[in-house]
Amino acid sequence: MTSTPDLESELEQASRAYEEFASRGLDLDITRGKPGSEQLDLSDALLGLVTGDDARTPSGVDARNYGGIDGIIELRELFSPLLKVPADQLLAGGNASLTLMGQALTFALLHGTAVDGTPWGAGPHKLLCPVPGYDRHFTLAESLGFELLSIPMDDEGPIVAEAQRLAEDPSVKGMWLVPMYSNPTGITITEERAAELAAMPAAAPDFTLLWDNAYGLHHLRETHPEPVDILSLCAEAGHPERPWIFASTSKITHAGAGVSFFGAGPETMRWFIANLGKIAIGPDKVNQLRHLRFFGDADGVVAHMRKHAEIIAPKFDAVLDALEQGLGSTELATWTKPDGGYFITLTTLEGTAERIVKLAAEAGVKLTPAGATHPYGIDPAGNVIRIAPTMPSLAEVELAAEGLVACVKLASYEKLLAG
Ligand code: PMP
Repeated sequence: MTSTPDLESELEQASRAYEEFASRGLDLDITRGKPGSEQLDLSDALLGLVTGDDARTPSGVDARNYGGIDGIIELRELFSPLLKVPADQLLAGGNASLTLMGQALTFALLHGTAVDGTPWGAGPHKLLCPVPGYDRHFTLAESLGFELLSIPMDDEGPIVAEAQRLAEDPSVKGMWLVPMYSNPTGITITEERAAELAAMPAAAPDFTLLWDNAYGLHHLRETHPEPVDILSLCAEAGHPERPWIFASTSKITHAGAGVSFFGAGPETMRWFIANLGKIAIGPDKVNQLRHLRFFGDADGVVAHMRKHAEIIAPKFDAVLDALEQGLGSTELATWTKPDGGYFITLTTLEGTAERIVKLAAEAGVKLTPAGATHPYGIDPAGNVIRIAPTMPSLAEVELAAEGLVACVKLASYEKLLAG
């Protein structure tokens, strides 16, 4: 046990280090998982790849015109092996997978699903939320009237026994999941855990896995996992319509101007397209054609993702090195060491996250608000901080990480001394 005088001297040192950092008057932002401009530059060639004279898809469709609600077939074929979804069960949409999630949930609330015609909105409706998780999943579902129920996770995925217990309630309609390099922990679900979720009994006949594979291709290291074929796992378990698969090129090409994807069982795909056809005549096929020409084939996507990794892996390493150097020999925090995705999760002493975020803001380092990783913005232990190192330059990330360490130490010693 550290004695009180030792703690006092640690606090003094931490306080000095913090003041020194704050006096530099920096303005750094590691809040959101946005690509840095160097990453966006990688895809600029896209912008010139479709001209008025040359706007036909390989199968002869004029991309400039209306139609083709499920997106151009060649792009769906290109992404099919990458996402592990057959091309005829994969829709290519507009620029945001979050919009597809909102649409699918809204259709289910209003019309029921392909499996059960009772609108989810006709009664109480709840979603399971593995935590820590993605804040926009939570705010989207909350805004649509879902009650959010937290599920714990370990490093193989959500705890299935807990999900199963809660899913005995028929108003539990589904579960959010970021299967690969999760936002914000970076963990990837194991095939075994995915199979358990595929087979899990649930009272709602149309219990749905909201399988948001936003980071399925976003590896930081050469050796990496492949996306789980959740459609096959669910079909084998007798729940062919259970997964709704989402993905996009937001963090592959231009984040505001990419292509989104929706994959599902055959009945769900028909249901989704029938409903989508009421609110749209077709997606932006010009953008889809640009993406098709830009990548050429699936290997083109893989090669492109390597270039992203070359840019962002050093930023992740800078944060991990700073945490290790500053906190590795203490018991003040633990952190995830992701092999992909956009985030690192830092777990600090209970009840210190809010203070750390505040201290960091005052010292010129913006962090995601404490609590954002949990439903309703409430992290019961008050100790989870999401770090998003991709957008600032490497030099800025290094500085931000140094500042973060100073804030963790200061807030921790304050807390330990306060008892
Ligand atoms: N899902 C997850 C897990 C994300 O982290 C993000 C982006 N931060 C999105 C979806 C948003 O994707 P899109 O741009 O396709 O709407």
